[in-house]
Amino acid sequence: MEQPSSGPNRETTSATDIVVCALWFGVLAGWFEGGMELAKRRVPAPDLICVTTVVYAALFFLISLEFLVILRFRPEAPVLAAEFFFLTFCSGLVWERFAFAPETQQMLGRTGPVVAAGAALWGFLRYRRGIKRLQRRTLPLMLGCSLVGGLAILGGEYTGEQRALARLPNPAPESPNVLVVIVDTLRADHLSTYGYSRATSPYLTRLAEQGVLFENAVASSSWTLPTHASMLTGRPVHEHRADRETESLDGRYPTIGDAFQAHGYATAAFSANTALFSRATGLGRGFLHFEDYLQSFGAAAEETFFGERIEVHCYRLGICRDIPGRLSARDINIHALRWIERTRRPFLVFLNYLDVHSPYEPPETPARGFHTRRPGKRVWLDWQPELTPEQLQGEVDAYDSGIAYVDEQIGNLMEQLAERGLEKNTLVVVVSDHGEGFDEHGLLTHGNSLYRELIHVPLLFRWPGKLPEGVRIGTPVSTTWLPATLLQLATGRAEGEIPGPSLAPLWQTGARPEDFPDPVSELSRVDFLPPNKHNYGPMESVTTAEWHYVLGAGTHEELYRYQEDAKEAHDSAGTPEGKAICKKLAQELAERRHSTSAAMGISGNGAQTTRTGQGNGQ
Ligand SMILES: [Zn+2]
Repeated sequence: MEQPSSGPNRETTSATDIVVCALWFGVLAGWFEGGMELAKRRVPAPDLICVTTVVYAALFFLISLEFLVILRFRPEAPVLAAEFFFLTFCSGLVWERFAFAPETQQMLGRTGPVVAAGAALWGFLRYRRGIKRLQRRTLPLMLGCSLVGGLAILGGEYTGEQRALARLPNPAPESPNVLVVIVDTLRADHLSTYGYSRATSPYLTRLAEQGVLFENAVASSSWTLPTHASMLTGRPVHEHRADRETESLDGRYPTIGDAFQAHGYATAAFSANTALFSRATGLGRGFLHFEDYLQSFGAAAEETFFGERIEVHCYRLGICRDIPGRLSARDINIHALRWIERTRRPFLVFLNYLDVHSPYEPPETPARGFHTRRPGKRVWLDWQPELTPEQLQGEVDAYDSGIAYVDEQIGNLMEQLAERGLEKNTLVVVVSDHGEGFDEHGLLTHGNSLYRELIHVPLLFRWPGKLPEGVRIGTPVSTTWLPATLLQLATGRAEGEIPGPSLAPLWQTGARPEDFPDPVSELSRVDFLPPNKHNYGPMESVTTAEWHYVLGAGTHEELYRYQEDAKEAHDSAGTPEGKAICKKLAQELAERRHSTSAAMGISGNGAQTTRTGQGNGQ
């Protein structure tokens, strides 16, 4: 079908021209973004370029359908020129996002891509015939290169995994399996296991009765990337620096996966939080097998610049209710068990469940749902939406229902392990990366403060016959010490490169709580936060047995006696007693901030005394 164009050259435009133009720009944009991402983040995930290429080709093809419709009904309109302008503008946005520093991007805004698209349109109108010919001739080659390159990358990743598995040293006899379940965004105080009024977690309560539960586990930050990086490297945030400033974990420090591989373990991770617990953020280091954004088109699209923005707009417009491609805990269990069945050696497996993350959409109605009502306004992207008490309660109901669902799925997973004869020889850990806010301090969701609701997380260990049963430990501990603990329990050795301390002495030898450093949490940059009374800059906090001290931008102090004031409603920083404690804890934070794990002498061999406030009965 050839349609005449009213453009200056009086060329005809066919449907093929429209589609070819879209795919040509799509493949180029995908190559560019994927290449820039890999160069910038330096992560071992070359399939990222396959994702961006496929997603942009598909996305731009969908855009071309609009132009095809216009061409069908307004054949005299300059449809191809309009498409060329629009796609150059879109490509310009991608170029601007990845080629320039954030300050330059802010300065250029959309003006830069508009000017670039205008210049391109001028060239197109002048050399229309040549450009069409160029696109028609080069597109088959580009698609062919993408296909061959994609197959080579994916095939290379598969064979690389097989070769790496074959190269592993022999594991020690009787090496246990290790399974870590990270329930993303799970605050401890919404679990009945931790005293919540609703029966959200009966299965976890049973699991805790069979092992060791930490009542006062504290996350290293209040959002996914830095806390996962800490749980993989054993390092605090200021040391591994996988936070908003670097946006990914670099290869400076070995991970728990590296350490377990050295002991002959097959290592794998299965993530539902594909945006942050993924190879694209550097958290895949040490895992021989990692299932993240390749699991669904929605998850893959979310990895791209345009995909992420489209998702946000769709959510704001109410077109979609959930995170596109979100995998349920049930899906994650199926994928992990499939891999475990194939693996004929001891394994270290990390799972990430995203079911209780906002938007709160329990994937299935659990037997014990609390999903009573769902008033209009939804919470996801806003930290401070104005919700009525009924709307807020509706969100809490849905969040709690998600917890009940996850609790059931953890129960199912344990049954599946038992059916495969793996229960006794598998050390199981359940933990969360951070909590969630429900307006306790005027904020919702997470990553925006270091209050208790965001950093107090569940942590429990079960290993039948090897760990004591029904032990509950109240000592404040950091989830940053998880890898040193796993390594000591599984291998009997504490590796120097994974700093500790290991938590095991707390139940093995009755180590003194005061021998453990106070857990520190950090939120390095919060200048993206909308203006509000809590936006006072980078934050740190330290949790002692009695106090929770928060320091904002090095000057703003808050102090809470959290054991009695669980909601942290009464700030003691201004009282005479509080001022003295603030001074001590500020000094402790300063010492910790300027120390590395090695300099502090923390190793996996046990505890290190850095607890300055402990001697004061805190
Ligand atoms: Zn998270």
